[in-house]
Amino acid sequence: MDSETIFNVLNQIKISIDQHKDEIEKLDQEIGDGDHIFNIQRGIKESLDLKDELSGQPPNEILKKIGMKIMTTVGGSSGALFATLLIGMAKTYNDEISDQKNIVAMFAEGVEAMKKRGKADLGEKTMLDVLIPTSNELQKLSDEDNVKIIAEKIKKAAEKGMLSTKDIIATKGRASFLGERARGHIDPGARSSQLAIEAICNTIINT
Ligand code: ADP
Ligand code: MG
Repeated sequence: MDSETIFNVLNQIKISIDQHKDEIEKLDQEIGDGDHIFNIQRGIKESLDLKDELSGQPPNEILKKIGMKIMTTVGGSSGALFATLLIGMAKTYNDEISDQKNIVAMFAEGVEAMKKRGKADLGEKTMLDVLIPTSNELQKLSDEDNVKIIAEKIKKAAEKGMLSTKDIIATKGRASFLGERARGHIDPGARSSQLAIEAICNTIINT
């Protein structure tokens, strides 16, 4: 997990998010205030702008600095929550264990930190409905050696989580003000998180 890999993945995430810009914007217009795509694109840009400065640094430093940058530059609930995820991941990095074991442990810790920060859990129609099942699936696959199999299964778990937000009401975030009217709409944060995870998985599958 070197800086080049991390920034390459980030670039793949950017490509996918840009391709789905209108869709994400519409989802947040339906059950939020419409700024989610702007916040996500801003976060990605601010992160990619750190590429030269962070080149060659260890993964925990990179994730921490990206997290801090997002915390101070990106608005909306998603800015603070994503920053918390990344900073939580950075804290858990251990350079004595494999990348695979690191990712499982780091992601679990990052998701826990986000749950605490947003006082939210599974089934509240937020991006946690993608991130929690993804983390659980990663734990389940921690003894799987074939990274392409892992990537395929993670992609499916994230997609299932994203779709699960459609038919429920929101109990956290702006969409919670809508009550029953939020039903029938996919959560924008769940969709953007799922697209990011899919982009990471596709990068693994295609290399
Ligand atoms: P805002 O809601 O402040 O306008 P964004 O539009 O950038 O921020 O992000 C909205 C997304 O944030 C939602 O779609 C949802 O997935 C996520 N979200 C909102 N509140 C929480 C929370 N407490 N925990 C986890 N995710 C949340
Ligand atoms: Mg919004």
